[in-house]
Amino acid sequence: MNASSTRRTVAVIGAGWAGCAAAVELARRGCEVHVYEAARIAGGRARRIELHGQSLDNGQHILLGAYRDTLHVMHLVGLEPASLLLRLPLQMRYPEHGDGMQLVAPRLPAPLHMAVGVLRAQGLAIADKLSLARFTSAARWMGWQLNVDCTVTELLERFDQTDRLTRLMWRPLCIASLNTPPERASARVFLNVLRDSLAAKRQASDMLLPRVDLSALFPDAALAYVEKHGGSVTLGAHVRQISNDEGRWHIHGDGIDALHDTLHDRPYDAVVVATSPSHARALLADLAEVPDYDHEPITTCYLQYDAHVVLPHPFLALQDDPSARHWGQFVFDRGQLDATQAGLLAVVVSASEEAIADGHEALVKEVCAQLAQTLQMPALAHPVWGKAVTEKRATFACVPDLKRPPNATAHRGLWLAGDYTEGDYPATIEGAVRSGLAAAAQLLNAAG
Ligand SMILES: Cc1cc2nc3c(=O)[nH]c(=O)nc-3n(C[C@H](O)[C@H](O)[C@H](O)COP(=O)(O)OP(=O)(O)OC[C@H]3O[C@@H](n4cnc5c(N)ncnc54)[C@H](O)[C@@H]3O)c2cc1C
Repeated sequence: MNASSTRRTVAVIGAGWAGCAAAVELARRGCEVHVYEAARIAGGRARRIELHGQSLDNGQHILLGAYRDTLHVMHLVGLEPASLLLRLPLQMRYPEHGDGMQLVAPRLPAPLHMAVGVLRAQGLAIADKLSLARFTSAARWMGWQLNVDCTVTELLERFDQTDRLTRLMWRPLCIASLNTPPERASARVFLNVLRDSLAAKRQASDMLLPRVDLSALFPDAALAYVEKHGGSVTLGAHVRQISNDEGRWHIHGDGIDALHDTLHDRPYDAVVVATSPSHARALLADLAEVPDYDHEPITTCYLQYDAHVVLPHPFLALQDDPSARHWGQFVFDRGQLDATQAGLLAVVVSASEEAIADGHEALVKEVCAQLAQTLQMPALAHPVWGKAVTEKRATFACVPDLKRPPNATAHRGLWLAGDYTEGDYPATIEGAVRSGLAAAAQLLNAAG
């Protein structure tokens, strides 16, 4: 028996960030890993799309310095995060002409960076700054933990937060990080995010903007790593069924069965199901219980202008106001991230169900009008082209006391990975990566 035939064989279903992280870790630790991905491109809900001849993303993403496992796996597969991500200090800046605020944490050690940032913040009255200080000191005293979960709105009321601070800071932060409005969002998960951003070491609180498309940021290199370590990757392979025969796992599906005859005719020692929760539910049926979550959509409007249109900063917060049909919450100047995208703006509309009710064309027009008005740049009303991209099931609705399954299932050798499994974080890239690494570690431990 040669060495390769004694290697543990693992099938990873899904090449999103969770599946890629699991596959890399398993390959690194000596398993023979076979990845099956239904789409033709890796990355799942954080992936490259082609639009108007450019490589863009299915949605503008922002990472945090606190995404330690994401940065770690990028290093593992030979990528250099410092060159692929623009690192900015923690900030909440609105366009200067409007009624917004400007908060930028200076490059000082924590917690001074936040204290000085708040003291210097423009657009906040003393009452707002005191209310922010009250919130952070109370949350620190509680260890950023809540025994009994409640909504973010209830938490803010309990800490007597001013309307202005809630509108300009807490609400946009909650929607951006949990993709769920504060009146429905989990205060416990929100505190976890704040613990790792506002209250963390300065570097952890930094904001990281991708300079390359999201598939190039990790998934493509992760799959190349798996292949280099003796595994295989099959794109366009939709797994329809998983079964167990005498302790070994078999998978079947479109584009897989023919492959099995030629390439992988032996069954697997273990399977990691690294799909979204709704796909896992459909695939696993009675093999494992995956909750039926409500989901929230996210829409990104890409707007191409003349190449010399430049924003004052790489990204700005915007005040959304459905009554004025102002839907945009953040605008990113992609030209400041990648010179080949000069003049391209990406406007993010999180929890976007109401915003897309009249269709994408109407939304693009309304977002352009919002930009022209709030940035006082009339030319922004007329892009060269504009296109909205909606991910209908972008994230699970992150409500209080949400039940999230562990990585382990009741079946030996069958594991779950994905942003929805047990963990501190809302549906995020870091939550997905941590889940993938946890599934891999538990699989290896269980096998002894
Ligand atoms: C528009 C948008 C904006 C976001 N913004 C941010 C942000 O700013 N910051 C942040 O951290 N997070 C953000 N997120 C959340 C983040 O993208 C997700 O939490 C994360 O990508 C989920 O990864 P995952 O691996 O758990 O699942 P997925 O990405 O869903 O991966 C699952 C993979 O499994 C494949 N699959 C499904 N069923 C099968 C099957 N039967 N057979 C084979 N393959 C299958 C799918 O094609 C997919 O590739 C955003 C998400 C969206 C959509």
